[in-house]
Amino acid sequence: MALEPRLREILDEVRGSGGRVVALTGAGISAESGIPTFRGKEGFWVVGSRNHMPQEMATHAMFLMEPGEVWRWYLHRFGVVRHAAPNAGHEALVRLERALGGRFTLVTQNIDGLHRRAGASESRTYSIHGDAAWVRCSNDCGVGLLPLPDLGPRDAGSPLSAGDRARLTCTRCKGWLRPHVLWFDECYDEENYRFESTLRAAAQADLLLVVGTSGATNLPMRVGQLCFSGGSALVDVNPEENPFSELAERSARGFFARGSASARLPEIVEALAG
Ligand SMILES: [Zn+2]
Repeated sequence: MALEPRLREILDEVRGSGGRVVALTGAGISAESGIPTFRGKEGFWVVGSRNHMPQEMATHAMFLMEPGEVWRWYLHRFGVVRHAAPNAGHEALVRLERALGGRFTLVTQNIDGLHRRAGASESRTYSIHGDAAWVRCSNDCGVGLLPLPDLGPRDAGSPLSAGDRARLTCTRCKGWLRPHVLWFDECYDEENYRFESTLRAAAQADLLLVVGTSGATNLPMRVGQLCFSGGSALVDVNPEENPFSELAERSARGFFARGSASARLPEIVEALAG
């Protein structure tokens, strides 16, 4: 579909000014690659005789009580992620990064690594909720980020073997390794999740391009509000109305581009990158 005249006007203006662009992506862009949304029913998990929701499983409190169960749940989820491939939306954002270089920042809520696999650079991608490709020590002993151990083919949800347990043990302090993801009962920080860098990028943005997120968590919404109050252009790409589309519609330089990432991003990027 051709760009709406008002959207083209906004994108032309950003392109002409040579300003900075921040893309903020959420689950919607990955859903098109077949990754179920976190809050969907496939996130439910049975521990003992109790049924747990993702909001309970993805917590530090649950990890302290049942580390093996939390790992089984994540290994099941990460298995789904490994078989997914990037789509036209991810690829369009890589073209935008290559065209803009240092004027581009990607802030993603997704832990699936699809942006990286499409070709996004590590240095300009802020994974504010972590990244499934990495683990770190649950005791923070200073061992740093380590690649997710390859536990070989596993049946969905199969129990951890002694060998799995050994590979999920920190070699330095012998504590559990943990997924490098932000849990619901934890706070954003700079070291793991690029918190300050994200706010700085938002404050300097000339355009915020929001893709496939409904802003359910607080940092993405803060990014939206910083850009809105700072007068940045604000384009929201989403099949459905959401808090960002409302912000875009209230903004003097805003536009709600209704549609999926793969349908809308290629043309938007073409207009910005030429
Ligand atoms: Zn350790």
